[in-house]
Amino acid sequence: MSDPILTLANVEASYGAVKAIRGVSLKVPKGAIVTVLGANGAGKTTILRTISGIIDPQKGSVTFKGEAIERRDPADIVRRGLSHAPEGREVFPLLSVRHNLLMGAYTRSNPAELAEDLERVETYFPILRERADQDAGLLSGGQQQMLSIARALMARPDLLLLDEPSLGLSPKLTQEIFAIVKRVNRERGVTILLVEQNAALALDTADYGYILELGRIVMEGPAAELREKDDVKEFYLGLK
Ligand code: ATP
Repeated sequence: MSDPILTLANVEASYGAVKAIRGVSLKVPKGAIVTVLGANGAGKTTILRTISGIIDPQKGSVTFKGEAIERRDPADIVRRGLSHAPEGREVFPLLSVRHNLLMGAYTRSNPAELAEDLERVETYFPILRERADQDAGLLSGGQQQMLSIARALMARPDLLLLDEPSLGLSPKLTQEIFAIVKRVNRERGVTILLVEQNAALALDTADYGYILELGRIVMEGPAAELREKDDVKEFYLGLK
């Protein structure tokens, strides 16, 4: 395994009295696609929010590129090369598609680089170029999901956090989005941490996986091995 770009050690996070993650440790090797699988409410979104600085952990450490980032400001974390495409997309509905993309680059200012990055993400997602001047709120769900991912890429991340990119999408669109995610990883070397309820697709896409139940990691391994485990087949792949 190459050096981890991200390491979580014993991370605990709560919403008031609700403990959402209970001592999570995981590693994301540089250049890999890693997935965290789990049922509704297992704590997947909370893990991503803790990494990107939206919520502060009560305990534990989050190390990105060798530096502690827990309790840092989210904008500072983006500047270090970590961006997050959140669950539910959260595009700005009244801004144009192009403006939404530029919002993703809010921590950067070099105009030549921005133009280059716009060109690149619009090549991955041609529909966003076609719809550049439309309000983002008028896009379909699948197109908004593409915009959310493309906006996160505009920060030129080394690590991209993806929260349930398949949520609410047709199987065909989901396949299309996952194919682009793989391309971004292979062609641009962007490391990816993906949380998903669609376990079959996530394990086909990822190199390594973790299984989260009630806020704890209960199993981990190379994706190809997890796919063959009886528990995973039964509870996550619906094969038994
Ligand atoms: P989902 O796929 O439904 O988003 P998840 O695995 O991402 O599930 P989380 O959203 O991280 O799970 O939620 C973990 C736990 O924290 C759940 O018990 C959930 O009810 C609780 N929780 C999440 N957000 C809040 C909040 N804003 N306030 C209170 N409790 C919350």
